[in-house]
Amino acid sequence: MLSVVLPAYNEEKMLAKAAGTISSVLEEAAIPYELVFVNDGSRDGTWAEIEKAAAGNPHIAGIHFSRNFGKEAAIFAGLANASGDCCAVMDCDLQHPPEALVEMYRLWEQGYEVIEGVKRSRGRESVMHRASAGLFYRMISKAVGIDMSRASDFKLMDRKAVDALLALPEKNAFFRALSSWIGYKTASVEFDVQEREAGESKWSTWSLVKYAVTNIVAFSSVPMQLVTVAGVLVFIFAMIMGVQTLAKFFMGHAVEGFTTVILLILIIGSVIMISLGIIGYYISKIYEEVKGRPRYLISKRISAERRTDEGEK
Ligand code: UDP
Ligand code: MG
Repeated sequence: MLSVVLPAYNEEKMLAKAAGTISSVLEEAAIPYELVFVNDGSRDGTWAEIEKAAAGNPHIAGIHFSRNFGKEAAIFAGLANASGDCCAVMDCDLQHPPEALVEMYRLWEQGYEVIEGVKRSRGRESVMHRASAGLFYRMISKAVGIDMSRASDFKLMDRKAVDALLALPEKNAFFRALSSWIGYKTASVEFDVQEREAGESKWSTWSLVKYAVTNIVAFSSVPMQLVTVAGVLVFIFAMIMGVQTLAKFFMGHAVEGFTTVILLILIIGSVIMISLGIIGYYISKIYEEVKGRPRYLISKRISAERRTDEGEK
């Protein structure tokens, strides 16, 4: 059976349509399936829509978070509650075409264990967005060691790969890159990002910046190495200045200059402060991991077979 995990945050307008389209595509292809909708603390009627969809289709399951925990948390909750022999993850705004899902499933049947959805085109995006996404993916690709520039969260994974992902202890999990990090026999399927028909993208510029910084820090220690490089550069500069100053001193005239001194103090001060900031960010992330709080809290669920609503801690 194929489990499809669909994170949903304020998607009341798209939910019924997504559930209908995906299930009819899978039924047509004769693929046994379940759809696991994860309501990530939506503030609109998304949960009611999930309940309605589940009432009309026994293959639909739902998970209701106690609040918004973010898309990564929703993906992991869905995977943890999926019972299929393979699990797919896709957006529930139909920007990931369900036809590609069938293609992925066929590859899984051929023995592939991780099937990555790769963006053929990125859809409509602003120039700024494209440029900053480009920079972010270049850094992440370096950190992971594979090209991530066209990566997406649209994937299908074998049970083995899903269990490997779920066994990772980190709370700051970056699904898009971890699915490559775990290895396994990998294939990819190209797809075109569709236009969103209703509702709106949840990403503001600020949340994208946060997403980028969090995931770079989660995957790479390059920023901390940059701190060392900055330190070495300032040190070399200081040595050259020192030699020059001493030479002048022995030639009989001491160097004077209030401006130079202030300027140097400011430059070195800011290098130190930026470095402390970078290190502090890593420490705060370590602190978060050490606290070991759960990634998400579930308040209600509807299971595909056993239709019961239950509250849990
Ligand atoms: N999403 C989520 N939690 C969030 C933000 C988004 O579960 O905090 C879901 C959203 O419902 C959608 C998917 O993640 O199914 C992708 O979100 P969106 O369409 O806003 O992103 P975009 O396609 O613009 O990158
Ligand atoms: Mg979308």
